[in-house]
Amino acid sequence: MEFNTLVIHGGIDGDKNTGSVTVPIYQTSTYRQDAVGKHKGYEYSRTGNPTREALEKLISDLEGGYAGFAFGSGMAATSSVLMLFKNGDHIILGDDVYGGTYRVIDKVFSQLGIQYTSVDTTNPINIEKAIQSNTKAIFMETPSNPLMKLSDIAAISDIAKAHKLLLIVDNTFMSPYLQRPMELGADIVLHSATKYLSGHSDVVAGLAVVNSKELANSLHFIQNAVGAILGPQDSWVLMKGMRTLPLRMDRHCENALKISKWLSKQTWVNKVYYPGLSSEVENYKSQMKNFGGMLSFEVSDENTLAKLMSNLKIITLAESLGGIESLISVPAKMTHASIPVEKRNAIGITDTLVRLSVGVEDVQDIINDLNPFK
Ligand SMILES: *Cc1c(COP(=O)(O)O)cnc(C)c1O
Repeated sequence: MEFNTLVIHGGIDGDKNTGSVTVPIYQTSTYRQDAVGKHKGYEYSRTGNPTREALEKLISDLEGGYAGFAFGSGMAATSSVLMLFKNGDHIILGDDVYGGTYRVIDKVFSQLGIQYTSVDTTNPINIEKAIQSNTKAIFMETPSNPLMKLSDIAAISDIAKAHKLLLIVDNTFMSPYLQRPMELGADIVLHSATKYLSGHSDVVAGLAVVNSKELANSLHFIQNAVGAILGPQDSWVLMKGMRTLPLRMDRHCENALKISKWLSKQTWVNKVYYPGLSSEVENYKSQMKNFGGMLSFEVSDENTLAKLMSNLKIITLAESLGGIESLISVPAKMTHASIPVEKRNAIGITDTLVRLSVGVEDVQDIINDLNPFK
């Protein structure tokens, strides 16, 4: 099945009992057993729920994995995956991963004895150099957030395999429609499904996909033991959003490319970060089908930034991304505020850096809205 068909018919396609073309919402906590220990595959909804399971099968199909798992947020998915590691293990972490990922590793998992080194993953040599005897995994994002730096998943996977490390890729920015890390050698793919997968800014959810039975058993154990599951209603809402992923992504990509080209010509913009504009993009065409709906740009000064923000009528100033509506944010003050200021400046997340999640509106309306001098 090709992707556009898989996204509609993948996972569990409707309901066999009634013919319903959508999966029912099984709003139940528990299941009747025919005799002690004799049940129909479901015992308790933390352990398994048919609506959640349909979603988990769908994301696994879309990423080409062995099994999928749904959690109450992207951070719950990330944290549950990090619980695969133990006291004394070391992880190599991309240096501009999502702020919350950095925070949970730096502030929570480090207290539990999990060590990490931040590395610029755009050059795989940096990763090789950071490997220690206790290194167990590489955690990366590409494009990175918010600077849209590209990293070579296949090359990093080669390093991971040579050193028997797990490669974990947060694929939130691309979605499986544009990039499938497992085909390039990743072991675990993570999503904040709150973003492009849901696509409508109406649910907070996280998904993880693993590529082996062993990892599936371990992660299901953690999902059930720790309990950070996604409820059946949210599972259903998320699945509904996912069914239109390719339609939305095509428009996001088309709009973002046009806007990034327009921004590059503005005198009040110092720099535009969009993978589709990057000179290195030729090297990455085999790993990403298109360049996504996220872009960042650096405004010349704080005054212009203030004008830009106060003039907005269509674009919403808000955290988050990936919805049908355009959202704008200032990472240094919002999503990335938990990263120390020296570190932020060192990696380029300045106070005048703006991140735009380009929506699916008419592109000219978005462009008109972005003019600080109108
Ligand atoms: C939003 C986001 C997360 C966290 O997901 P939540 O659903 O907000 O918990 C993780 N990674 C990336 C790249 C994100 O954008």
